[in-house]
Parts: sequence; C-alpha cells; structure tokens
Amino acid sequence: MLLYNSLSRRKEEFIPISPEKVGIYTCGPTVYNYAHIGNLRTYIFADVLRRSLSYQGYNVKQVMNITDVGHLTSDEDTGEDKMEAGARREGRSIWDIARFYEEKFFEDTDALGITRPDIVCRATEHIPQMIELVERLYELGYAYETDQAVYFDVTKFPDYTKLAGQSLEEKIIAARDEVKEDPNKRNAADFALWFKAVGRFQNHIMQWDSPWGRGFPGWHIECSAMAMHYLGETIDIHTGGIDHIPVHHTNEIAQSEAATGKTFVRYWLHAEFLVVGSGEKMAKSEGEFLTLQSLKNRGYDPLAYRFLCLQVHYRSKLNFTWESLDAAAAGYRRLLDFVSSAARSGDGTEKEWVQDYRRRFNEAVNDDLNMPRAVAVMWELIKEANAREDMGALSVLYDFDRVLGLSLSRAGEQAAQDRLEPHLESLIKEREKARAEKNWARADEIRKQLAEAGIILEDRPDGTIWKRIN
Ligand code: AMP
Ligand code: ZN
Repeated sequence: MLLYNSLSRRKEEFIPISPEKVGIYTCGPTVYNYAHIGNLRTYIFADVLRRSLSYQGYNVKQVMNITDVGHLTSDEDTGEDKMEAGARREGRSIWDIARFYEEKFFEDTDALGITRPDIVCRATEHIPQMIELVERLYELGYAYETDQAVYFDVTKFPDYTKLAGQSLEEKIIAARDEVKEDPNKRNAADFALWFKAVGRFQNHIMQWDSPWGRGFPGWHIECSAMAMHYLGETIDIHTGGIDHIPVHHTNEIAQSEAATGKTFVRYWLHAEFLVVGSGEKMAKSEGEFLTLQSLKNRGYDPLAYRFLCLQVHYRSKLNFTWESLDAAAAGYRRLLDFVSSAARSGDGTEKEWVQDYRRRFNEAVNDDLNMPRAVAVMWELIKEANAREDMGALSVLYDFDRVLGLSLSRAGEQAAQDRLEPHLESLIKEREKARAEKNWARADEIRKQLAEAGIILEDRPDGTIWKRIN
C-alpha cells in the first residue's frame, strides 16, 4: 500500500512496525464550538485511512484526542485559550461546553459513517503524562523556564523544521513578527510546553499543580504525551489537517524525539482544506461556517456529504458548493436505488466477471487512498451489472463499502425486508399480465393507481422493479 508521507514528500510503501497491527494517532477536535464541514472532511479522510488498512487485513488501533485545554487562539502561543473564549461567548462553564461539543462532534461523525476511534482521550485527563514529558525535556536540557512559562528551545533540536521543509532561520525570522508575550523567551520560535497561571493567564480557569507552579499545558505537548502513552514511543501513522504541518506537528516531532531519541512517527498524513467562495479556508473561529446540521436542515443526508468528500482526493482542495453537494446527493440516491433493487432481486451469487473490479478497486485504495478512482470503479461495476442484468454484483459493492462507509448494506437490508403490501403486489402481477397481453390501457391504469399509493415502477428487460417515493 502506498501512502504519501508529508515528511519525505513522496508516496512510500507502507510497512507497519509489527506485521499485523497498525497504530494511528489522529489529532482530534478542539471542543469550543461545533465542527464545521471542513473539520469533518479531515475526519472522513482519517476514517477512510483506517477502513482501508482494515480492508488490507491489518488490525488497526486508532487513538484520537479531545483538545479541551491549552489551544490558544493563535497556534503560535499568542492570544487566549479557545476554550475560555468559547465559554465566555456562551455564558456557560468551560466543562459544560467541552462535554457538549464533544458529544455533538461524535453525533456528527456517527452520522457520517465515521468509525469511532478505539481510544478517545481528553487532554484534561492526561495532565500527569504531560508533566512527566515536560520534566524529561527539562532534565535533558531542551526546556527552560521563565516567570511566565516553560518553553522548548528549538535551537537545541536539530532538524526542527524537517516536516515543514523550512529553514530554522526562516522560521525564527517569521516568528519575530509575532506579538511578543514574553520578553524572556530565548528564541522567537520557541514554543510553550507549560503556561503558568500568572499575568495574562492569572485567571485561567483550568489549572493544575506542577513542578513549575500552577498552570496548564500547551496544546502540542498534549498530543505527544497521549500518542506515546497509548501507542508507544514510535507510532505508525499520525494524521491531521495541513495546517498542522508548520507548527503543531513540527512541535510534536521536536518534543517527542528530543525526549526519546527515537523516530516519533513513521508516516505523517495530512488532509487538504475544504475551501469556499474564491478559495477561502473554512474556519471555526472566524466568520460563518457550515455545520453538518446546516446541511441536514436543507434536507441533505449526511452520507451524501461523505460521498462528495470521497470524490475529491484527500490531498486536493475540496471547493465546496451547493451544486457539488446536489450532484453528490443525486449520485448517492442512484447508488442506493441500485442497491435496493439488487437486494430485492435476491440474487446473491457472485460471478467471475466481478473479480476484475475487485482488483481495480483494491489498486485504487492502495494508491494513496485514491477514492475518486475507487468510486469510478464502483460506477463501472454497476453499469456492467445493469448491462448483464446480474445482481450478484451486490456482494462486491458491500465489500467496497467496507472502505467507502456509505451504509450500503443497511440500505440493502431495508430494501430486502421492505415487502410490498399484498394488494399492491397483486396489482403489479396483474399489470405484467396485461402487458403480456398487450393491454396497454389496463397497464397504464395500474401504473397510475400504484403511483397514488406512492409506488413507482420501472420496466426492465428482466422484469419490473418498484420503488417507494419518499
Ligand atoms: P480544530 O478542532 O480546530 O482543532 O480542527 C480539527 C481538524 O480540522 C484539524 O485536523 C484541522 O487541521 C482540520 N481543519 C481545520 N480547518 C479545516 C478546513 N477548512 N478544511 C479541512 N480541515 C480543516
Ligand atoms: Zn494534535
């Protein structure tokens, strides 16, 4: 399986640390607001990754954090804690909004067919692990303390900028333009491991005791501490959005590798942004954003949104428009129609001709999760199944759906169980007889009668199929 590794900037053959098991760490949401559809795109990507690995027979362990403390309004340690700002906006306690938005997040991901991670870990419940990691960095000489915070000295870690592909000089010069909150920081690009509850953070609501006095952890240390706690010091795959490359993941690498002397992550995978209008990134903290609920309010099935995401490769920008969502929704309905009629036909025997589609689907999955190609293979399979009038292709679609996650077997089972009311069933039989006798007037009359009962008919060479109108 080839995966694009952001660290080497090329597709690499995926080789896990142990042959059958794969550990994945996925940067989770900061729970100060609803997730927007851009955030959700990134989690759909992570889900496709884990499903694809399971499809290849790996036993996947996915860990996802919940950021409920320490993520400041700028990733570069300036501004205030997003959680505190969120609580103030809503006039509720931080703990209240943290739990509320975490719950909403998983409601959304469930609706999108995203498999729940094997382990979900909240930052606020792993403070001891973070303190321990900061202490290790301190002892090894990578960290230093000022009266405001404990920082990581980026000049002590060779290759600090290897993920971003920037030079350290560039990084330090860029960081110099940032607002300086602490005059005692050694280098502008140094980042906080621990913030003290003093000065601008004197009234920070969430705070804990530490060897450096009361305070709270920085955002980056949480992911290093929890990833290593649950997956070990070297992990197979780490995922996130591309905005994580220059700061968050750069810092995760520095702190983790400085502490252990080992490679932290073997494969770094990043999803491109969802953009709107003339290419603006959808953002949770600014302006208007679309949530899954806003799509549902307009009558869209969440899985139609998932289907849209599958049609754009995860490393390309997804330019969201209502037209593209309409097209995806129509495509998804067509797909479900095929599944329903195939399931009702009851023909489950798979023929030899489908094997070629299995092979091509697998190739697409293995080529850096090429879902647009996988979806195209799926449509070709359906086209050939229709042409051959061979509904045995359904079992292959169910197999593909282990990766696609579009709830196809649910739709199929529903359709198979959905028996027509006996009087409608006998009307269809009567109509078939009328057609055989070329009594078109009676056949049309029955078609109208069924339409009034909410059933539409489609005459195919192999017989008539019916569908309920919603
Ligand atoms: P946050 O909850 O803000 O920490 O972000 C959650 C995830 O969404 C992170 O992996 C971000 O990289 C990702 N993300 C943020 N904005 C977008 C966007 N416009 N499109 C896709 N992913 C995004
Ligand atoms: Zn993270």
